[in-house]
Amino acid sequence: MSAPVLEVRNLIKRFAIPGGLLSRTVAEVHAVEGVSFAVAPGETLCVVGESGCGKSTVGKLILRLVEPTAGQILIEGTDITALGAAAMRPFRRRAQMVFQDPSASLNPRLSAEQIVTESIENYEPLTRAARRERAAALLSRVGLRPDMLDKHSFEFSGGQRQRLGIARALSLRPALIVADEPTSALDVSVQAQVLNLLLDLQEEYGLAYLFISHDLGVVEHIANRVAVMYLGRIVELADRASLFASPQHPYTEALLAAAPLPDPRARENRPIIEGEVPSPINPPSGCAFHPRCPYAIARCRTELPALHRLADGRLAACHLRD
Ligand code: SF4
Repeated sequence: MSAPVLEVRNLIKRFAIPGGLLSRTVAEVHAVEGVSFAVAPGETLCVVGESGCGKSTVGKLILRLVEPTAGQILIEGTDITALGAAAMRPFRRRAQMVFQDPSASLNPRLSAEQIVTESIENYEPLTRAARRERAAALLSRVGLRPDMLDKHSFEFSGGQRQRLGIARALSLRPALIVADEPTSALDVSVQAQVLNLLLDLQEEYGLAYLFISHDLGVVEHIANRVAVMYLGRIVELADRASLFASPQHPYTEALLAAAPLPDPRARENRPIIEGEVPSPINPPSGCAFHPRCPYAIARCRTELPALHRLADGRLAACHLRD
């Protein structure tokens, strides 16, 4: 793999839960527990899992929208974990985010032109004419008409708003975009158009994506590699074809069995997962999946399985694969 655009090493995030008269920490949410991976230039790494597995927190940690409890985040080889606001400036350019809900992430008081040039102005003072020209080019590139520059986001359809959010993310020419469920709030008919736009932009600009999704149909369409998360930990990390053809972790297997994938062979003979995701405040001992795992053995209740490399190169955390 070429030098990574993004690398995270043993990333941990615990959210304190205050209680009592003195608001002391009485418990912690174990949102992310020792996550490590790298993303190469031009690559799409999808992070999947049920809601509450920590995948969105990983995205926010990478952009320092929340601060990690421990671990390291490297953008293009530089450790940005502890950088102050001024030192972070060049790295904010290199990594941008596309949010799930474009309505909530776009300021309704700003015009489309202001939305897509807001960040540029912080880095490159432009004349009024140059700013408008840059904004028109960005809108055209994401499939919006330049005559929409003066409209406000509430005048756009859902799909157009997400295109506007993508134009904003592109405005600083990043190397990495963290996309958190970017199509899940859109009509099905529009989802494919936005996904195809993201793929076109990736090819044109060599973008890397960290693509967070619960939708395995979308993941199968867009991923190069897939990291599967369960209760804050990566339990399997594999290239897309291997993961969908022969999942090695029982949780991946169960996710595929439950997903409405076009190829029914992806679901063949796979047990359906039952029960709820346990609370991340008090995760189960040993392998956190053991209360729901049809293959659990005694050891699974006490011993945490390490994420280790299998003979075919993928990573899995399961005692059955030791
Ligand atoms: Fe199931 Fe045990 Fe593997 Fe966990 S370690 S996934 S409980 S078999």
